Amino acid sequence: MAITVPSHTEAGSPVGTYRAAVVHSFHEPLTVEQVPRPELTAGQIRVKVQACGLCHTDIHAAHGDWPIKPSPPFIPGHEGVGTVIELGPGVTEVQLGERVAMPWLGYACGTCDYCVSGWETLCLQQENMGYSIDGGFGDEAVAYARYVVRVPEGVHSIDAAPLTCAGVTTYKAVKVAGTRSSDLTVVFGVGGLGHLAIQYAAIAGARVIAVDLIDEKLELARELGAEFTVNASREDPVQAIQKLGGADQAIALAVSPKAFEQAYGSLRRGGKLVFVALPADNEVKLPIFETVLNGITIIGSIVGTRTELREVFELHRAGRTRVIREVRPLEQVNESIADVESGRVAARIVFEL
Ligand code: NAD
Ligand code: ZN
Ligand code: ZN
Repeated sequence: MAITVPSHTEAGSPVGTYRAAVVHSFHEPLTVEQVPRPELTAGQIRVKVQACGLCHTDIHAAHGDWPIKPSPPFIPGHEGVGTVIELGPGVTEVQLGERVAMPWLGYACGTCDYCVSGWETLCLQQENMGYSIDGGFGDEAVAYARYVVRVPEGVHSIDAAPLTCAGVTTYKAVKVAGTRSSDLTVVFGVGGLGHLAIQYAAIAGARVIAVDLIDEKLELARELGAEFTVNASREDPVQAIQKLGGADQAIALAVSPKAFEQAYGSLRRGGKLVFVALPADNEVKLPIFETVLNGITIIGSIVGTRTELREVFELHRAGRTRVIREVRPLEQVNESIADVESGRVAARIVFEL
């Protein structure tokens, strides 16, 4: 992840204001206030936001949890969906009135080795929505026309929002895991990401195990296609999963290093562990000997490309995924963060703007 940090007025000189939720300090609640409306520069568009999901990444951003921090004041949100209301100089990629999603990958160079080989998500020049570029927690947002993704008709904006990060990220994680029919795949953490990961693993043909600490989340996991569930607050998931023969793939989505270690322990020989969650506590302890002798693969996976987001929208339009979300007003941003942190949310909160 390469993150540079311009302030939220740097994109141009302000013309009017709009309402947004702003992080002023890593230790204070967000404030919903009027912020300056920047002029568009080359390649940018202005989007009237309809919906934006609250990803746990926004919470890490607001708390300054990671080694590379955003610089306050900034506006979180990388699941913003809305209509294009203004085109900046030179924009040809989208038209006024089109509905677009503004994902985490807000900008990339388009010409480096990563960008030209289908790995734009690894571009060193990238900018990230809601982190180094102001994001979707507002009535409007400014984005780069090349990096937004059109939302097809038939996909509601309230559903499109969680698909824009939680969807594409877990779709990609299942892809890099190489999940195939006959595989046993375990998903650790049935939150915003996990509830979609279960569905993509099932679509890939796997038998799915879901692990969480909260019974309601495990019930939801079963409704969404998990065949087995383990409540890790009562039962050791490693033992339970090894009893089933061990998992071919484990996808680590729980914001807890301990869950990563359990995910590792739940693999069968030759298994793959995909790191996706990004807990503030940035370390896990894994054994070298067993990794080598058991032929284990560990893969880091960061969001997904624009192409993959298109595929995620198509799957949803075809009726193959369900987005579980609760709609709230932006004014409830701080209560919503507290609810996600304590697991009081079924899957995803989406702010309606
Ligand atoms: P979330 O809070 O909605 O979900 C986390 C889930 O994990 C919750 O259901 C919680 O109950 C469960 N959980 C917590 N501790 C657990 C444990 N020890 N064992 C099992 N389950 C446990 O969060 P989210 O929005 O789904 O995001 C998850 C993580 O993924 C965050 O760290 C986020 O920053 C990260 N993320 C990474 C990427 C990427 O591209 N790699 C993209 C988006 C989000
Ligand atoms: Zn996210
Ligand atoms: Zn690049």
